[in-house]
Amino acid sequence: MEKIQYHIKKRTHKIELPKELGFGKLFTDHFFEMDYSPEKGWHNPIIKHLENLSVHPGSMFIHYGQAIFEGLKAFKTEDGKAIIFRPKAHIRRLNNSAKRICIPLVDEEFLLHALTELVAIESDWIPTNPGESLYIRPVIYGMDPFLGVKPSSNYKLFILLSPVGAYYSEGFKPIKILIQDDYVRAVKKGLGECKTPANYAASLLATKEAKEKGFTQVLWLDGIEQKYLEEVGTMNIFVEFKDEIATPELTGSILPGITRRSVIKILKEKGLNVTERLITIDEVVEAYKNGTLVSLFGTGTAAVISPVGWLTYKGTEMILNNGKASKLAQELFDELSSLHTLSIEDKYDWIVQVQNEEVEV
Ligand SMILES: *Cc1c(COP(=O)(O)O)cnc(C)c1O
Repeated sequence: MEKIQYHIKKRTHKIELPKELGFGKLFTDHFFEMDYSPEKGWHNPIIKHLENLSVHPGSMFIHYGQAIFEGLKAFKTEDGKAIIFRPKAHIRRLNNSAKRICIPLVDEEFLLHALTELVAIESDWIPTNPGESLYIRPVIYGMDPFLGVKPSSNYKLFILLSPVGAYYSEGFKPIKILIQDDYVRAVKKGLGECKTPANYAASLLATKEAKEKGFTQVLWLDGIEQKYLEEVGTMNIFVEFKDEIATPELTGSILPGITRRSVIKILKEKGLNVTERLITIDEVVEAYKNGTLVSLFGTGTAAVISPVGWLTYKGTEMILNNGKASKLAQELFDELSSLHTLSIEDKYDWIVQVQNEEVEV
């Protein structure tokens, strides 16, 4: 791979972050870009001042959706070092998504290098209040100007950075979930396990309608029978039964979350009974009725852990743990948050430290 080119503008003023960051509204000064062509492979890697992309109106991704993305986070440790949480797992998943929709693979080591260089250059943008982080959004899209359905020949990869606060305005407060059986998000053997824009397009109307009724998000059921739990908009779901913590197994229609994987590992390490299996909605309702349902929580990079306080299915509302976060959800949130700032030991080797950059900003 070629060396990254750096077109960096000297920073003339101190970065002042707003008090309320929100999520995904603010972007840093620089981004990373590279191109793919059949002749050159991935080439022209560059970190430069953030600017608009030049997109031909015929670009294939606009017409046929050939695009993938990732979402991961950088944090500052208590002693001011920049770290990234599980970047290798995210880059691996980017390549898995790439395979599914005929996008050429990236060199994982090189992309990790590009990512850490960019975060190092922008490390002053990493917010440090509890719950805040620098969200990292790698994207690849097919850019040939061509009308006709086939894989593009040329691609663009970029990495965009956004300082963020809590994903839900509720923060770490229980959210209201509508169990959706009027629409489905994905089906087995479809695109569900791929982080591709099509899945989010499929979710918009259901989520909009749920929000109009006062819900925070929808919980999807399987695409065929609407019988099994799948996942929430941008999170995987865990169900705490009295003596089991269950999460839907990866059947192909569910996004294989890295937070999900981290939570399974942490729970196993604690010696708890965590299972990956099919969970029916009837089983959840039954457990609620007979008092063996403790709570539910979502897991995802954006929200980390999101307790579910209220769950509505076919017009009936279930109030979980009196609308409060369960003890377990709180513990998981605290443990992951402590890992993010390295205030506890990284015994799983999930953290990658960002090296001090070669380039001054
Ligand atoms: C990104 C995402 C998740 C969570 O994955 P993480 O790797 O934990 O961030 C879950 N479901 C969907 C649909 C997603 O897009």
